[in-house]
Amino acid sequence: MKKCIWCKKDEETTTFEKKAHSIPLSLGGMNFNRNVCDECNKFFGFTLDDYSYSIEEALKETLCISRERLLNRETAKRKVGSFKSKFFDVKDRNGKLRLSLKKNIFLNYEYQRGLCHNFKKGLIKMWFEEYSRQNPNLDIYSDKFDYIRNFARYNSHDIPIYFFNRKLPIFLLKKNEAETPRLIFNRSTIYLQNENYFEFEFLGQVFGFPISSLSDVELTENLKESLELKKTLFKDCVEIKKIFDIDFLLM
Ligand SMILES: [Zn+2]
Repeated sequence: MKKCIWCKKDEETTTFEKKAHSIPLSLGGMNFNRNVCDECNKFFGFTLDDYSYSIEEALKETLCISRERLLNRETAKRKVGSFKSKFFDVKDRNGKLRLSLKKNIFLNYEYQRGLCHNFKKGLIKMWFEEYSRQNPNLDIYSDKFDYIRNFARYNSHDIPIYFFNRKLPIFLLKKNEAETPRLIFNRSTIYLQNENYFEFEFLGQVFGFPISSLSDVELTENLKESLELKKTLFKDCVEIKKIFDIDFLLM
């Protein structure tokens, strides 16, 4: 029997008719999680009251820049003109790409704060649905995951998410990975994953976050261990507090 990984309701109490894409279809995602109910699926895809986008769009309208950039590398004939985002403009200034916020949100700090927060939720939504899909034997309904469930689905608290800055824009991508992106959990041993903390790679970007509530000391220890593992490729990490903390252009 299907049981929703977010609300933990089963087929007797809710419906599972719609396909819930774990990675947005518009980013090229082909997989869906059968254990996401229609109500929870709608929650992530529904236009938010205070904004003109959904949580899923906060994710796809930002990461589409990275995807386009990787597609550009794969097929050099694609031009800068194909970058399209609800939130950003990409301009070519003397051969160097620059990302700027669209005029209507440039001076709206509240909107930008919301965008960053909803992007983070979208990232966790994507991770949780892919993580459970790729690990069918995992006890995904465990209370242990309520920390991230409550953040992404129920808005009860914020969680820190870290973005890792590369030393050089060098990526190891499988063929077609930009076209059909995947969440990579085990590409190499440089990603730290333990009981309480997790890292993954998506479209060349590496993100890390606690899966359960950690003290500042515990969090710092995890990040220190993580940076040591990846010191040949990454220079540092930042907690994502604004949308430009992420290098969507992969420069
Ligand atoms: Zn549900």
